[in-house]
This record gives sequence, structure tokens and C-alpha cells, in this order.
Amino acid sequence: MISPGSHLARLPVYEPGRPIEEVARELGLDPARILKLASNENPLGPSPKAVAALEKASSGVHFYPDGNGFLLREALAKKHGLARGQVVLANGSNEIIEFLGHAFLAPGDEMVISQYAFAIYEIVARLFRAKVVEVPARAFGHDLDAMRAAITPRTRLVFVANPNNPTGTAVSAKALERFLRAMPESALAVVDEAYQEFLERPLDTPRFLARKPNVVVMRTFSKAQGLAGLRIGYGLAAPEVAVALQKVRQPFNANLLAQTAALAALGDKTHLRRTIRTVRAGRRFLQDAFRERNLGHVPSCANFVLVRVGNGKKVFEALLRLGVIVRPMDGYRLPEWIRVTVGRPAENKIFLKALDQVLGRKG
Ligand SMILES: *Cc1c(COP(=O)(O)O)cnc(C)c1O
Repeated sequence: MISPGSHLARLPVYEPGRPIEEVARELGLDPARILKLASNENPLGPSPKAVAALEKASSGVHFYPDGNGFLLREALAKKHGLARGQVVLANGSNEIIEFLGHAFLAPGDEMVISQYAFAIYEIVARLFRAKVVEVPARAFGHDLDAMRAAITPRTRLVFVANPNNPTGTAVSAKALERFLRAMPESALAVVDEAYQEFLERPLDTPRFLARKPNVVVMRTFSKAQGLAGLRIGYGLAAPEVAVALQKVRQPFNANLLAQTAALAALGDKTHLRRTIRTVRAGRRFLQDAFRERNLGHVPSCANFVLVRVGNGKKVFEALLRLGVIVRPMDGYRLPEWIRVTVGRPAENKIFLKALDQVLGRKG
């Protein structure tokens, strides 16, 4: 039998948050009674404006989408003060990570990441037979000085997620600026800003692109913008880097509905503001509750909280049986922790009640 490349032999298949329908089927539960707080989705759902645009666009899905993504790229370029040629659309910003691998990684090249980094970076490195250089975290966050020191002439990509998933930590604007300024020309700094909307003071990282051609900024519509199911994200890069990413892209990777809904979501500031307000309040509520219960947690700058519960896998499974889906963290070598997405107020209470029950605490 033909076998796949040897680099795939020990590469695990990525395990996403458990879908509601799957858990319902497996445990014989009513899907309507299952609460998913596992994938950092928007607790308020999609923007109503995006939903209206989707409904309108649905009768046109026999046409291919605009392969150049003109309207959405134009709107994103305007939003970030860049040229349209600097915007690369993707089937979720995860796809940008893959494009970076195609464009910049050859066997034996190095990728620098932080301990507790988003799992996809390492998966992509290994797909392209690159070497992963993992830099120990500092207080669960990126140690940018140590990451800078880990860059060698073989380094091609350096990933900084800000805020970081799964820890929720963020680096300061000053520290990031210093780090980006010091990037050697032989490597690309990739700043993954999937959760930047939730920062107290969002950074204007795209402005670095004017001065540093070796910076890529990743953004997504999956989290604060509430469009995870459509798969749409984008990269911002210097024109010559953007061209390389366009070359490795499949012609219609950003589908028609995704482009349409993303454009509409961009115009819905009200929904975004409500989302941010809900997440900040819910995050405070959960963190206060963890403190009250003496549960260690990492103060979060995103829409999820990493909390120490003892045996993370067991607690995850027990919560699952109560109809609450969270994320076990053993895959991130954090076996005592779970990651919970901030939900609506009533959802946060349901989660806490279930957690109390699982941990044997009177609610
Ligand atoms: C969720 C997430 C993404 C974005 O994923 P999409 O492919 O855009 O849905 C990227 N980076 C991090 C760190 C994330 O947590």
C-alpha cells in the first residue's frame, strides 16, 4: 500500500472543539440543551446585517464568487489604511498560516513560536518539514526578548498571537513595537490578531507594514465578528509578500457567502460594540468566580479564560455529560487546565453551576 510522507506519521489530526450535534448524538442529549463554550465563537451570534446580506446573496450561489474579492479587499484596505494589493483573503485566517508555509517554508527551515502557542502553527511547520523552535513562555505569555534571541539565519517565520490562544495573554504595544523593529530581514514576523477586538486598547499593528516589509498581520471574522461557520479571514502584508501569498492561494478560496457577510459585518459597528461589552463583562464575571473558588486562572485579554481545575480531561468529560462543552488542554501540555469561552450572562452561570457540580462544590 502506498503510504503518506514520513513527516505525517507522527502528526496528529487537529482536534477542534466538539460540535453540539456530535455531542448530542453521542450522549443522547437534546441539542437545544447543550451549551458550547469551546471554540471562542461570538456569544451573541452573527451580526443581523450579515444575516440579511446572506439571505439576499443565497439565490446567487450558482455563480463563482469574485476570485479577486474586490469589494471586501477594498473595504479592508480602507479600514487599515493600506492598498488593496496588501490584503489577502482566506478561508479562515488559518489558511493564511498555510499560505505562509507554502510561500516561505522549505525542509529544514525554522519557525519560532512560543510555548502554549496556537496549535496550527506547529502543524503547518511540520507539514512543510520545517523545524519548530519553541521558546518557553513567561507567565503563560510570549517572552518576546527570548523569541528574538531564538531567531537564527534559518528562521523564516516567527508567530506572535496577540492576544494568545489558549492563554489569553497579550503583549504590550511597546514590547511588540520593539520586537517588530528588531526583526531581521531574513525572517517574517506574523502577528496573529484573531482576538484583537477584545484588547482594552487594540493596537494598530497594520501600520508597521509601511516601514517593515517583513511583517504579516492576520485577522479573522470568526471571533468578535461572529462568522466562524463561513470561514473567512485575511492577511495584511507588504505588496511583495502579499503577491507571494496570492500565488499559493486556490482561485476561489473565499466563498461568495463569506465575502458578502464579511462585508456587511464590517458595516455593523453596533453588533461589534455589543459583543465586546458582553465579553468584557462575562470575562470579569468568570474570573471573579474563579478567584472566589480559589481556581487558578490566567487573566484574559480575549473572549475565553484558561482555568486550572485539577484533571482537565476528566473535568471536560464530566462537563460534557452535563451538556456543557469546553476545551481540555492536555494537547497544549496543560493537563490540569480547561479553556472556557465567555458566553452570555445566563450561559456563564450555567457553566459555573455545572463546574461547581463537577468539582463537588455546593452552588
Ligand atoms: C480562532 C483563531 C484563529 C482564526 O481561525 P479562523 O481560521 O479564522 O477561523 C487564528 N488564530 C488563533 C490564535 C485563533 O484562536
